[in-house]
Amino acid sequence: MTEHRVAHRVLVLNSGSSSLKYQLLDMRDSSRLAAGLVERIGEHTSRLVHTLFVDGAERRERTGPIGDHDAALKAVADELAADGLGLDSPELAAIGHRVVHGGRQFTEPTVVDDAVLAEIERLIPVAPLHNPANLTGIRTARALRPDLPQVAVFDTAFHTTMPESAARYAIDVETADAHRIRRYGFHGTSHAYVSRRTAALLGKEPSEVNVIVLHLGNGASASAVRGGVCVDTSMGLTPLEGLVMGTRSGDIDPAVVFHLKRVAGMATDEIDDLLNKRSGLVGLCGDNDMREIRRRIDEGDRAAQLAFDIYVHRLKKYIGAYYAVLGRVDALVFTAGVGENAAPVREAAVAGLEQLGLVVDGGLNSARDGGERLISPPGARVAVAVVPTDEELEIATQTYALVHGKLATVCAVPRAPDGARPRTRP
Ligand code: ADP
Repeated sequence: MTEHRVAHRVLVLNSGSSSLKYQLLDMRDSSRLAAGLVERIGEHTSRLVHTLFVDGAERRERTGPIGDHDAALKAVADELAADGLGLDSPELAAIGHRVVHGGRQFTEPTVVDDAVLAEIERLIPVAPLHNPANLTGIRTARALRPDLPQVAVFDTAFHTTMPESAARYAIDVETADAHRIRRYGFHGTSHAYVSRRTAALLGKEPSEVNVIVLHLGNGASASAVRGGVCVDTSMGLTPLEGLVMGTRSGDIDPAVVFHLKRVAGMATDEIDDLLNKRSGLVGLCGDNDMREIRRRIDEGDRAAQLAFDIYVHRLKKYIGAYYAVLGRVDALVFTAGVGENAAPVREAAVAGLEQLGLVVDGGLNSARDGGERLISPPGARVAVAVVPTDEELEIATQTYALVHGKLATVCAVPRAPDGARPRTRP
């Protein structure tokens, strides 16, 4: 009898301006076969770190110039081939690409063709830092395996359901429309995955629950999800709006920009750099790693304490705002590096919100458990949860479902933890 082997692997690619992150997954059980990162592409000191998770798992690292994304993907393909997982394998079903900006038009994962590429290109003015790199990744992968479905999974897609009242800025409509200025939101893949997993944690369907998601990584965003549908999110035209982040200011009076121009004499690019790279936690206290900030607070460092307090104050404002937007909240969920690991942030964000039914159990909150869990006391009116995000798995799941024509029923389930995983920005 001939064995019929259905293609069951998906390669997920996340191309940054000078980096390429990847994961190869086996979609029969959502397990990770290999993952890695090429960084400093285009420099002399490029580095490829590749980890194999199966058959005598091992980590390999090599340094040396990798000129462009084409060379980077070829290097990745060589590593995978050395593990018997080459991109020429008939078991590879598709390549899923993270694309940061899908504008208003891409509401779902999309198989890439020339027209889709042109549309992603047309969105470059609203995502000048991200979309060009994402496009390069897609073009490179397409050239390598032109016969294989390449699927674009958009960071903005989950937020395209926001009503106009949440998505529009209160500025002149003609100007806004002429320049496509509106709130798009980002981290959508994570918000989608985490809100659905939270419903499952409560034993409910996504359509039955209202959830506030706090994605707190280096970039950070909140979302209000009603019955599985996003109705508001904190990032806007760009990933700068909203929460205090590692290096980004989040919400700020736009007049600060005029002031910096007119009074401080700063150029537009300098202000861009200030608000995106030298603000947030790093701007307030010099550190953007919450672990370091907590260590400094324990030593009585006042700048670190103030940075923490401002970070938490903003979180509280968004919890309150999204509580009001949703009217009824079933769960508040923390995810990403800070959300998953920093118990003091979770405790402080919820402190004093008992009247809203939000309470954290000290023991459950500080327990060292890497999995999906409730940290509110049993019987709490609103569940407070920690759900590790897994954007690569979500991209792979959506890609695989699209290729197999069952996108409507897609829902990634978490896999067993197997160590550190690369993360995606914003
Ligand atoms: P990215 O946005 O880069 O994907 P992550 O979601 O990986 O970010 O989050 C990275 C951040 O998570 C770090 O900058 C650090 O502030 C925070 N973090 C990671 N581990 C811990 C920890 N054990 N305790 C507190 N904060 C942590």
